[in-house]
Amino acid sequence: MRMTPSPKIFGLIGYPLKHSLSHLMHNAAFRALNLDARYGLFELKPQELKNFLESLSQKNIYGLNVTIPYKEQVIPFVDRLSAQARLIGAVNTIRALQDKLEGFNTDGEGFLKHITEDLGFSPEGKTVSVIGAGGAARAVTASLSKAGVKRVTIYDTEGGKLKNLLAHLKVNFKGIEFNQAHSIDGLNINNSDLLVNATPVGMKEADPLIVSEAQIHRGLLVYDLIYNPKETKLLKLGKEKGAMVSNGLGMLLYQGMLSLEIWTGKIAPKEVMRKALEVSYVR
Ligand code: NAP
Repeated sequence: MRMTPSPKIFGLIGYPLKHSLSHLMHNAAFRALNLDARYGLFELKPQELKNFLESLSQKNIYGLNVTIPYKEQVIPFVDRLSAQARLIGAVNTIRALQDKLEGFNTDGEGFLKHITEDLGFSPEGKTVSVIGAGGAARAVTASLSKAGVKRVTIYDTEGGKLKNLLAHLKVNFKGIEFNQAHSIDGLNINNSDLLVNATPVGMKEADPLIVSEAQIHRGLLVYDLIYNPKETKLLKLGKEKGAMVSNGLGMLLYQGMLSLEIWTGKIAPKEVMRKALEVSYVR
């Protein structure tokens, strides 16, 4: 039973939550939509997750985003999973109704909207190389597969995770060629239309360049899911070699817009949310 009708509370759960920008775009959106709502950051230790999810109505929480390491761990606590969340095997958005929780995943659709609507990339029939086989790669590869890519090759240092992801994709998407690369060279980036970095490599200044120079070419879209820093070594190289490049801020924006629309039923104010995110780069 909800005790206090307003403001409605939304927020992000994860651990740790140091670099999150989500509160900036959601609070700006709530203001623009004139909603009596607040978005907070809830850094939860693993032992706190269960109690937190079981007491959302007492906290007046109507919706949550979920990030590392809880995207899979929240699944047993939701009463209903969207088809997309089931396909990806992870939840990044929870809607808290009066007596039940619903789980969604907007990461893959957010990525897809960004590359198609803002970057003009059409996935149909394309060849894709992906570095990383974690949660973000699951979302990205499922959405690209739904959008009709021809071939997906994935590399991850963690072989077990990669094998699971490939098996999952092969079962769900017939007619698409899925390949396991055993090294970055095996990704065959030279023949790809799209390269996605879905690892955290590049977040730290000391991180190495994740590909070699000769692999990047004109006509390639180099998409780094990382948005902080704004320009990773990979994106800098892509630019120098004449490739089209993008960091992950657009994906963050679109996944956030989709989450907000699920929670509120209102059209998300895209430019307000985009500006709120971009402010973080000039601080
Ligand atoms: P994750 O679940 O930890 O997955 C990352 C995967 O990359 C892991 O399997 C990891 O293997 C692997 N890996 C690490 N270093 C590698 C390397 N040098 N070569 C190949 N594979 C390597 O993380 P995630 O949730 O998928 O997130 C990945 C990145 O995407 C993060 O930087 C995250 O911030 C970003 N992201 C951005 C958005 C957005 O909206 N823009 C949304 C979601 C995620 P190990 O487990 O062995 O390290």
